[in-house]
Parts: sequence; C-alpha cells; structure tokens
Amino acid sequence: MKKEMIYEGKAKKVWTTEDPEQLIVEYKDDATAFNGLKKGTISGKGVINNRMSNALMKRLERAGIPTHYVEELSERETLVKRVSIVPLEVIIRNISAGSFSQRYGVEEGIVFDSPTIEFSYKNDALGDPLLNTYHARALKLATEEEIETIKDYSFRINEELKAFWKGCGVTLVDFKLEFGRLSDGSIVLADEISPDTSRLWDSKTGEKLDKDRFRRDLGGVEEAYQEIMKRLEENI
Ligand code: UDP
Repeated sequence: MKKEMIYEGKAKKVWTTEDPEQLIVEYKDDATAFNGLKKGTISGKGVINNRMSNALMKRLERAGIPTHYVEELSERETLVKRVSIVPLEVIIRNISAGSFSQRYGVEEGIVFDSPTIEFSYKNDALGDPLLNTYHARALKLATEEEIETIKDYSFRINEELKAFWKGCGVTLVDFKLEFGRLSDGSIVLADEISPDTSRLWDSKTGEKLDKDRFRRDLGGVEEAYQEIMKRLEENI
C-alpha cells in the first residue's frame, strides 16, 4: 500500500509502494489552466479521470500499446509501473483548436487531412516550450529510437481513441500524451488520458465535453465530465 508521497502535481499525487517498481497514483479534483494561472476545483473529476484513463489504457494494451497501467485500486487510486518520464509532451491533433488556432491564426474546427504531432519540452519554469525532434535530441531528452517509438505509438493511439470516441458520438479533436521508460529502458505510455488532457466534442452538436469548459468559463463543467464518462461507460 501507499508508503511515501514523492510527488504532488496539479491534478495528481504519486506514492511509493512496497514494490520499488510500482507506484500509486491518486487523482484529485483540483484543476489548473494557463500554466497554473487559473485554479479551481471540478467536483468528481478525480474519480472520472482515474476510471476513464484506466479504461482507455486497458483498451490500448489490448491493441498492442504498452502502458504503465497495472490495477485500479479504488475510485481515485491506481497502481502503475514506475517509469522515468520522458520530458516531452506529445500533442496529436485531428482538428484545429486551442494553441494551434492561436499560433497559426486559424479558426477552430478545421478538420485536417491527416493528424499532426507536436512536442513540447516538459518544463513548467519555461512554460513547456514547443520544440522539434532535433531540439529534443540536442537537449538529450530522448534518443532517436525513443522518439521514433513515441511517434509510432502516438499515431496508433490516435487511431484507437478516434475510433472508440466515434462510437460514443464524440469527436476526438486533440490530446496530450506523456511517455516513460521502465527500468529495462522500454517506452510505455504513462500519465493519463482524460477530459483534462483531450478535447472531446459531441459529434452532433459540437458541444465541448472537456476541460475547455473550465478554461473558458463556459459553465456546466461537472456535467460535461459526467456526460463524457457516461458515454464511455456505455461503450467500453
Ligand atoms: N494539453 C494538456 N496539457 C498541457 C497542454 C495541452 O493536457 O499542458 C492538452 C489539451 O487539453 C488539449 C491538447 O493538449 O487537448 C492541445 O492543447 P493546446 O496545445 O491546444 O493548448 P491549450 O489551448 O490547451 O493551451
């Protein structure tokens, strides 16, 4: 069981266990946006993100993508494999939104012919700056082989998740992934996949069912998280 808290982030706490190769992740209801400038609570979010992330990671495992998932321990707690996180945030986009729209001066909702991938350097003090794979190599954040594996997994994850959410009447707009290295050096999907880290729009109405409701003060935040969880549970 939980021994020592080794990390407390914006949305999660991480604890050591008796097994040095395993950790417990505990999901909180706290929410932040804009690099921590906006803070709040989304009641029930921790339970939803824990269950959703686990359900999706199990599905990805079945599709041949290795993940850190081991076992759901409770509503908010999950046993995961200990990894050293590759300090890259990987963003896959199917449709323009958020920082893509701002950076390139285009409206939200443009459907791309093929998905895009981008990387940012996971570094809060620097505001997670965007970088390319040459920069990642220069900074020794990952090897060329690791970057190739991460790209391959990320696009495969996108195909799996896009198809799953489509069956739920939900369009997968974009999402962020993080990967880690196990003690043997192999790359696995880590962190979470949730409405905090994905943009999910109702396929018919375009209604936002994700953290943009919090970021943009759209109201109905808790209801959106509950609705997306209901859709997942009906289809998983
Ligand atoms: N995202 C995330 N963590 C971050 C930045 C982005 O989980 O630190 C997710 C975000 O929820 C969205 C996708 O990655 O689903 C693309 O986000 P974008 O770059 O458009 O940034 P944002 O507009 O959210 O600042």
